[in-house]
Amino acid sequence: MKIALVNPPARQRLIRDYYCSKTSKSTYLFAPADLLMQSGLLAKDHELIVMDAVAAGASLKQCLDRLKVFHPDLVLGLISAVFLHDDLEFYRSLKAALPALKIFLSGEPVLEQPEQWLGQHDFIEGILLRFVSRGLLQYIYDEKEPEGLVARTGAGIKSFPLGKEPEYSVGRARQELFQYPAYFFSFARRRRFATFLTDFGCPYRCKFCVMAALGYRRRSADEVEEELDYLKWLGIRELFLADQSFGAVPEHGRKMMALFKKYGNSFTAFVRPDQGGDDFWRALKESGCHTVIAGLESAAEDILTEYSKGYSREQVKEGIGRIKAAGLRVVTTVIIGLPEDTAESIRATMNFVRELGPDFVSYNLAVPRSLTGLRQKILGEGLASKEEMDQAGSFAGLRTRSLGGPELLKLKQKAVRAFYFRPRYLFSSLAKVQSGFELYALLREGLSVLGKNI
Ligand code: SF4
Repeated sequence: MKIALVNPPARQRLIRDYYCSKTSKSTYLFAPADLLMQSGLLAKDHELIVMDAVAAGASLKQCLDRLKVFHPDLVLGLISAVFLHDDLEFYRSLKAALPALKIFLSGEPVLEQPEQWLGQHDFIEGILLRFVSRGLLQYIYDEKEPEGLVARTGAGIKSFPLGKEPEYSVGRARQELFQYPAYFFSFARRRRFATFLTDFGCPYRCKFCVMAALGYRRRSADEVEEELDYLKWLGIRELFLADQSFGAVPEHGRKMMALFKKYGNSFTAFVRPDQGGDDFWRALKESGCHTVIAGLESAAEDILTEYSKGYSREQVKEGIGRIKAAGLRVVTTVIIGLPEDTAESIRATMNFVRELGPDFVSYNLAVPRSLTGLRQKILGEGLASKEEMDQAGSFAGLRTRSLGGPELLKLKQKAVRAFYFRPRYLFSSLAKVQSGFELYALLREGLSVLGKNI
């Protein structure tokens, strides 16, 4: 069978992966985790191509033309909440061009009420509910219960249950098919890097985060090792670890760190600031990690409690101190625009970020992700003004109880400027640069952030 993994065209540099689509806040772009993980399963017995139209800079027409030439029997495509209508138009056109093609989707807009969604979109054949599931492959082989798939069958639209095993295995991802020159990650130490996963979902329960609703599954350690070995052979040691909370399951985290150390990797990881004591951060650093992206979210205790973050402002402060003491570079992530946010709480968070002194900060606008408590609250209170949404803030789809969308956007831009455009910060960032690539990345990203926030 001929299969294409497709990231559709987009009018802006768009990250469509892991049920969290967003426009790129600067110029970063990486291989979509959903397609990467399915590539290992699907390439084994089938002819597989990857068409990342965002990375290729391909227009809708160019993308359709290339797919028409390949003429796949099946497409697994990504769909985003950012440009939902454009994405639907793309798949409608693809189906019109290749009527026998079966299109399956992965993405946040199709996670909730998938049967109903399929009922309204007859050009789509099915939905893969978890990108580490074997369901699509099982469907191709006509197995009776394809794991985590919703599909059209002779008896109508049917949902098949999700896999429940604590460990998953999807084969070695076909990293060689994801070598687009446009992939760029500013926190990487080297230009060439790979998106990499050692688990799926997250065991924590933060109410604004879709990861909490996905369940947690670790990836087979043998498979992780096989892929690291293959990446070494490809000459790639730099990783963007897309695990959502690395070290959340300590034993798995320790095993993975031993493997990264063995293969001489250098990597960036998402972590919680309360993840562990000094030992954990030191071990992480020794395993090759140079940068951590740590959720801070808000300085308001009542917001942290309301959304079940499971840590206090004080714990965040202690954690960031430990991370820095271990010699790791810190990026903190912040959410602006939760319903409870006010101009005052946002200002307090901006001040807290300055006090913590991370190397970088990523301000995100709250979005009502599928399957979250936040979504129910926002829809219940009528705070969403658009169906489409972008956490990066290319537009505001939400308001809070006291602030409108445009005010939120302005506050977000002000927060970015207040952090980055300080002479002292700029000098100290330049002083920490260790290589030509880091200097290039810093300047490239800095100019892009400047352009988007003035
Ligand atoms: S710890 Fe991070 S990834 Fe996990 S549920 Fe909370 S916000 Fe999401």
